[in-house]
Amino acid sequence: MTRLDEILAGAGSLLITGHVRPDGDCVGACLAAAAYAASLDPDRKITVCLEPFPDSFGFLPGAGAAVRETSDDFDLALALDASTFERLTPPVRDAFQRAKRSFCIDHHVTNTRFAQETYVESDASSTCEVLFYLMEEKRITQEIASALYLGIVHDTGVFKHSNTTERTMRAAGRLVTLGAQPSHIIDETFYRKSFRQNRLLGQALLQAQLEREGQIIHSYISLPQLLAEGGNSQDIEGIIDQLRVTGGVRVAVFLYELEPGQWKASLRSNDETDVSAVCAVFGGGGHVRAAGCSLTGTLAQVREKLLEAVGQALIGG
Ligand code: 5GP
Ligand code: MN
Repeated sequence: MTRLDEILAGAGSLLITGHVRPDGDCVGACLAAAAYAASLDPDRKITVCLEPFPDSFGFLPGAGAAVRETSDDFDLALALDASTFERLTPPVRDAFQRAKRSFCIDHHVTNTRFAQETYVESDASSTCEVLFYLMEEKRITQEIASALYLGIVHDTGVFKHSNTTERTMRAAGRLVTLGAQPSHIIDETFYRKSFRQNRLLGQALLQAQLEREGQIIHSYISLPQLLAEGGNSQDIEGIIDQLRVTGGVRVAVFLYELEPGQWKASLRSNDETDVSAVCAVFGGGGHVRAAGCSLTGTLAQVREKLLEAVGQALIGG
């Protein structure tokens, strides 16, 4: 049976990293693993390398100590919640490959096993759920519990997505006993929106369109729209979830422009339609009901390609 203590054993220097544009699960997993590794061996040198994440995660252990890049050498590089090498934040890739050992812990079916060793539980709600069961409970402090709970809350959309199982709820329950504060974490890090985020959500909803007799909903935020609001890609978090709950919709597609002509797509499915397979066609991936990919072109080009692929994937549609 895999245990986190064994994975970390003997690593005097440890690099912990996750995927680009890190979400709650990624940040929670990285900070929880770092705090846990430090408690096992206080002399261990630990570097957490992550792209910027929301200020609301700032209360998590070591949130302020995460770095954007590193050129150091490490005994062990641990990738969390990252399903492919290309999903790792670019400034960490060299250090990851140079490390004496590399290990990936993840919950994506599409994980490509890019690390020397990989542990994937594709039926776990989140990487934080996977980590919880790999940790020794007696070493889970309140801070670690908070980070893991935050990750589970974010990847399950507050325990409502179909990835939420009894095992997920048991983990969350134990984490509350160990000190995680549900109402603070859920309200302040998940539901709280800035005025700017709400305005962008409003724009995306007004720009939404239905396709295939209402089975597909799609919308977008272009780069000029994002810039006009003074926002960045963190501000569009959650828009896809609002599109997805539209009555009658089977698949929701949200596009946002990262650089001129470079689009990021978020897809959600309300039934068995496999959006990770759709995204894989464009070099992306994820889960059956939540996936993403990147595309290049004009909005019209990118949208047409994606909608065509989604239309073909619709089961019985
Ligand atoms: P989101 O739409 O929230 O960005 O991502 C939904 C899910 O798809 C997440 O599990 C995320 O890790 C995965 N995902 C999003 N974008 C990509 C991508 O470009 N490549 C891969 N392999 N997975 C992605
Ligand atoms: Mn995740």
